[in-house]
Amino acid sequence: MDFTFVSDHLALDFAATLTWRTSRPVELLGEPEDLAAWATQAGLTDRPCRVGRPALARARLLREAVYRTAVAADQGADAAAADVRLLRETAAGPQVTVALKALGVVERCGGIDEVLATVSTRAGELFGGDDRLLVRRCAGATCTRLFLDRSRAGSRRWCDKASCGSRANASAYRQRRAAPRAVE
Ligand SMILES: [Zn+2]
Repeated sequence: MDFTFVSDHLALDFAATLTWRTSRPVELLGEPEDLAAWATQAGLTDRPCRVGRPALARARLLREAVYRTAVAADQGADAAAADVRLLRETAAGPQVTVALKALGVVERCGGIDEVLATVSTRAGELFGGDDRLLVRRCAGATCTRLFLDRSRAGSRRWCDKASCGSRANASAYRQRRAAPRAVE
């Protein structure tokens, strides 16, 4: 499976592995191998690590804590204490190692526990710092992806212009075309 990385932050990309949350949710981390593939595609590990079902369940709990905390950040609300605790506890474990192998080459190694600890650490840096103020929800009608709005004007609306942005433009175009016919 090819995962999507459009949010401009690792933790928000992780939260996006459950899509279309409010209409017809799709679980992209259906199997342990999916989680291993996500970690590799996210650039956390060079090779897929071994993942069992308990780790997959832990990952999904962590993901939901990340998602809820990101939504709280977007809404200017307080994070849930239980979510903060889970993020703290998970971040306390050993992290993925990034070691220089040669000029231009690093090795990224770790098991699934290290992957989840690293995701939690990055999430903690995001939610504990000023970038939390840049967390936004995609303006797509049914899209529930989150992203960081790093545009200078603070005007980024879409998780991905190529998908949600163009879908919205096509829908607006259809409505404009349909409108004259409605009054005929
Ligand atoms: Zn979107």
